[in-house]
Amino acid sequence: MTVSTCVSAAKNGRIFIVGATGFIGRFVAEASLDAGQPTYVLVRPGPLDPSKADIIKALKDRGAIILHGVISDKALMEKLLREHEIEVVISAVGGGTILDQITLVEASQAVGTIKRFLPSEFGHDVDRADPVEPGLTMYLEKRQVRRCVEKSGVPYTYICCNSIASWPYFDNKHPSEVLPPLDQFQIYGDGSVKAYFIDGTDIGKFTMKTVDDIRAINKNVHFRPPSNISDVNGLASLWEKKIGRTLPRVTITEDDLLNIAAENRIPESIVASFTHDIFIKGCQVNFPVEGPHDVEIGALYPGESFRTLDECFNDFLLKLEDRLELEKNKVSTKTTAVVEPRAVTATCA
Ligand code: NDP
Repeated sequence: MTVSTCVSAAKNGRIFIVGATGFIGRFVAEASLDAGQPTYVLVRPGPLDPSKADIIKALKDRGAIILHGVISDKALMEKLLREHEIEVVISAVGGGTILDQITLVEASQAVGTIKRFLPSEFGHDVDRADPVEPGLTMYLEKRQVRRCVEKSGVPYTYICCNSIASWPYFDNKHPSEVLPPLDQFQIYGDGSVKAYFIDGTDIGKFTMKTVDDIRAINKNVHFRPPSNISDVNGLASLWEKKIGRTLPRVTITEDDLLNIAAENRIPESIVASFTHDIFIKGCQVNFPVEGPHDVEIGALYPGESFRTLDECFNDFLLKLEDRLELEKNKVSTKTTAVVEPRAVTATCA
């Protein structure tokens, strides 16, 4: 086992972010730039789809330094970490490539100067949560990465930010990219099991606060802000208040979720198994944050507020209004297009 000194990263230490073109990683990269940290973003080589190219351009325009490579290339990772004198490594790779991080941990250990390593967690405390398969396999992999980081001696922080603020669709792994329902609510069980819903910008912002905070070294940092706890019934009522009408509620039973999980369709069955763990078993709230390796984010930053669920759902309402406006304009453009030729015809006659 190597021993890295448990020193905190410097306030303006260089941050290396993997996965910035992804759903969670983008929030982290933007927060790193907001915090004024020198930010190095690793991008996989090869053709990029236009939306990813736009993300990279936006980050670059804000000052991010773009590096190319894959984390499974240990020699390259060592070279990049050394050459750019990186102090903090943050990984936000997706569920399909969790084990690729082992090489990144080994490279960070070999470099010997990494002051903090944040593996791709950004969800539950994977040592405590125990979803059914196929979600369990992802957690087993995340646990394996944890053990590898711990063995490496590189100081680490595990971000347990719980759910992203949005309607928790059981079949969508990036639910905050979708509006809450407009036809009917699917309620898990009796809809009364509580969970925490955190805005993506706050996931990024508070993750970045921990990277040079000595109190977060070798800790699970749990995000449990009181302004962001709700059950599914509460989320449904909140959305009904925003849209000014009620929607029918359909029950998705525990068995329904288990059956979808058992179909082993990736990623839908993984999301169903997590939905079961959260909204039936209560995996986000069924343990106290009190172990020697646990700290609650509010205890670290008591003066700091989170964007509330109410604010997050206002964002969805604005998106809905934008969408309706766009559709209205499309209809009126079509109407104009029909009317104009008639007018021309009449003039010609
Ligand atoms: P995405 O699949 O959206 O993005 C993954 C990113 O990692 C992409 O930028 C991808 O690059 C990059 N990447 C993957 N493999 C490699 C590699 N070998 N080398 C370099 N880059 C790589 O991931 P998510 O944002 O969905 O997931 C990130 C983490 O967040 C996961 O741990 C996941 O479990 C968690 N999560 C938490 C949620 C919550 O509600 N709390 C919701 C969703 C995810 P490329 O662009 O080339 O594909």
